[in-house]
Amino acid sequence: MSLFLSSTYASGLPDLVSLVAVTPFAEPKLLAYSAETAALLQIPAEFFQQADAADYLSGKKLFEGSKPIAQKYAGHQFGQYNPQLGDGRGLLLGDVKGTDGKNYDLHLKGAGRTPYSRFGDGRAVLRSSIREFLASEAMYHLGIPSSRALSLVGSTEPVQRETMEQGAMVIRVCPSHIRFGHFEHCFYTGDKNQLQRLVDFTLQQHFPECLNADNPTLAMLQQIVISTAELISQWQAVGFNHGVMNTDNMSILGLSFDYGPYAFLDDYQPGYICNHSDHSGKYAFDEQPGIGLWNLNALAHALSPLIEVEDLRTALGLYEPTLVSHYMALMGKKLGLTTQQPTDRALIGQWLALLQQQKQDYTLSFRRLADFSDDAQGSSLRDHMLDIAAFDQWASLYRARLAQENTSAAERKTQMNGVNPLYILRNYLAQQAIAAAEQGDTAPLHELMQVLQHPYQYQPGKEAFATPPPDWGKAMTISCSS
Ligand code: AMP
Ligand code: MG
Ligand code: MG
Repeated sequence: MSLFLSSTYASGLPDLVSLVAVTPFAEPKLLAYSAETAALLQIPAEFFQQADAADYLSGKKLFEGSKPIAQKYAGHQFGQYNPQLGDGRGLLLGDVKGTDGKNYDLHLKGAGRTPYSRFGDGRAVLRSSIREFLASEAMYHLGIPSSRALSLVGSTEPVQRETMEQGAMVIRVCPSHIRFGHFEHCFYTGDKNQLQRLVDFTLQQHFPECLNADNPTLAMLQQIVISTAELISQWQAVGFNHGVMNTDNMSILGLSFDYGPYAFLDDYQPGYICNHSDHSGKYAFDEQPGIGLWNLNALAHALSPLIEVEDLRTALGLYEPTLVSHYMALMGKKLGLTTQQPTDRALIGQWLALLQQQKQDYTLSFRRLADFSDDAQGSSLRDHMLDIAAFDQWASLYRARLAQENTSAAERKTQMNGVNPLYILRNYLAQQAIAAAEQGDTAPLHELMQVLQHPYQYQPGKEAFATPPPDWGKAMTISCSS
């Protein structure tokens, strides 16, 4: 196998890692891989046909150069600072240059116990591994920054959760695994020298363009504030609820990271809580913008030995305007608007209120709206509404707003369908793929992966993937323990 891994993080920050051997599975079996991610890493397609591919992809055999390590970090979990974190069940195998010239970390999740496992067994179950694998790919193809997934390996290894489940491993691929919590660890242990070295490493590896600024650390923080605001505006626009926005799950690169009990909204419920363990709704869908800022505050606090308080405030002040302007731009496009008007905010707000009151599917309503014409009577959207009069009232505002645009109905439809997905990773779809895979049938998983690679494009014969959940799928609960 030609893949050669470097240890850039471990060599740069040896005091922030622990060398840990993988605890391999007895019978690893390759269940799925992403051909695109493999191509990015220049892994030849033939590799996946090799008899021992699953051995490499589950750490039983190591890629050349690989020295697996667990990273030390801390973080705020549900608002409480927890110093006792770090990679408890995932190991950084190393990094490799991708075809785009960037360096990518390969992180093997579910690789066994580490010094940071606390009470955990170091494993991940098939269910959660499939969910991480699918979400990474689905997000990427939606055009939302995300970690990627290279491979999914299953096993006969029993893993105890509420019931006995099967163990699995995913290789997560992403330019950096540095989280907000890495900086918090150095700050709260009071090791200013270590904090400075972590900052220097991060700047050199991930923010080289900031090195020439008057205060490179401040320039980096500003970029993290902006990319996080942009990311969360995309989550809100697509209807994605992350579920565990702890600071140890926040990437410094502003990409969607650490997929647990996430959900894409079905019906539009702004207060939706995807994480069954989140009793207070701290990480509910409509709390995400505020939590993003709270988390950035925690990061800024950790960087306070290196940045003046006034500058920290200014950097954090970029968050709200960036998030609002990006969100409004995205929502305008979702409504088929090519210009921005002061009244758009109200139009968007009323549209969302309509979807909420009438329990409409968030994703499908935008697709149906693409068929809106001057003669909205009888449009499929109108037929779905429970309160037709309320819809007609909003439709007259929308019609008037469209009259200010210079696009034809046909152009608008094409533009809208290019930004409003038809296929999203609904929890019940993931669950169907999981149930089959648990019985040894990965065909539904592969079919779902395929569909999610073209979320904006109508795919003949795949209509079943673009429907709201059946009743059993609506009542699904997903918890943290996985
Ligand atoms: P998460 O909720 O997935 O972000 O995980 C929070 C922390 O718990 C991280 O330090 C994880 O590495 C650790 N963790 C989660 N599950 C396990 C497990 N089964 N065994 C060991 N550590 C775990
Ligand atoms: Mg995590
Ligand atoms: Mg996790």
